[in-house]
Amino acid sequence: MGIVSFEVIYRGIFQRQLANKISRTLIFAAVKEGKHGLSFGRYSDSPERNGIPAKQFGYITDTPEELEEVSAQYEPKQVDVTICVDDTMCKGIESWAWYGLQPIVAVTKPGGTLIVTSNNSVADLVTHIHRRDTPYNVSIVKGGPSFAGLWVYKDDGTDARCLGAALKACPELSSMASLEAAILENIGGDHHVEAARESFEDARSDEIKPGEGNTEVPFTFELLGWDSMRPGVVIDAVGGHNGFGDSEDGYVPGRNPYFKKWSTRSMRPVLNFDTCTKCTLCWIACPDTVFDVTPDNYYDPNMDACCGCGVCEAICPVPDCITMVYETVFEDRDSQYQMWKDDKDGFVKYMGDKLSKGKVEHRHPITGLAGAFSGLGLEGAHNDSSFSTKSLKEL
Ligand code: SF4
Ligand code: SF4
Repeated sequence: MGIVSFEVIYRGIFQRQLANKISRTLIFAAVKEGKHGLSFGRYSDSPERNGIPAKQFGYITDTPEELEEVSAQYEPKQVDVTICVDDTMCKGIESWAWYGLQPIVAVTKPGGTLIVTSNNSVADLVTHIHRRDTPYNVSIVKGGPSFAGLWVYKDDGTDARCLGAALKACPELSSMASLEAAILENIGGDHHVEAARESFEDARSDEIKPGEGNTEVPFTFELLGWDSMRPGVVIDAVGGHNGFGDSEDGYVPGRNPYFKKWSTRSMRPVLNFDTCTKCTLCWIACPDTVFDVTPDNYYDPNMDACCGCGVCEAICPVPDCITMVYETVFEDRDSQYQMWKDDKDGFVKYMGDKLSKGKVEHRHPITGLAGAFSGLGLEGAHNDSSFSTKSLKEL
């Protein structure tokens, strides 16, 4: 059989348990077949921050020697299956573990499969996924991002359904009988076994041909190597700003050029500049100093820097002046203020289009806590505390 590998890409802390259940259960199933396996949370050795893309991965081998050999590398260079449990990460991921933006299929083998939990179509997702020169497949497990974080476990069947889809995409992982036994042991409950079985039956995948997808080149940075380190302090302070307060130039805060943060968000704020009263609250409350102050004292969220926490929407006193919208409906990170300045009617149409396609509903208008949780789109289609396969089918 050779070596089989997989990765589960998730949002740090918020989806940690979910990734853990998927990754460990695949290994448990393989071990039941007499294989050898390892499930590993690579970035548990780094500070895992809420929302930051992170990954768990696993290897399955025939012999312990093979397992030893593959385990010696930092992480798999290629995987048979990539499982992504929040479709907004199809736009690429930045992590603590590297600089720059990594395409979601960066290490998916040619002919391998990307499994995504999503309410969007494959065609919609592919517009965000960076193109590559080898084919791969995309399979969708229907549903929004599921909340199964460090201290809670959201029992909505997402783990079991991802497992069923993974087995369909890569039968070499294990037999269905072993997967079912592993689900019972590691997740528990006949309903999870049933959900995995149904997901296996229903799973379909579409082939993505070389050259299809987002033509943007993901940003990278040149880093100092071991032999080019400077003596003394090598971490440059974040630069200053241009202009200040209500000066003619406005105010653009200094930002870390090596960590843009936007891949941490599942939604972004859209501002209605026509109703903004310039009260400053969003600017003051934003935890990531995202707002540029414009020369005429509006507050323009910088879409490279926003992590999508939703605090600005929660604090804005003007109804519907800031609305959080799912990230997957955007293909740009342009300045909303500039769009509005250049063409006010055009911006109103842009805003209306984005809100109709992806407005995040049912967000708490006041508390930052609810806002932060909603920042992961956690109020999605199956966010109930329990599930049945019947309700899953109705999604
Ligand atoms: S969503 Fe959060 S990070 Fe983004 S602009 Fe609003 S407050 Fe700042
Ligand atoms: S909180 Fe709302 S009204 Fe106040 S400056 Fe920000 S966008 Fe404008």
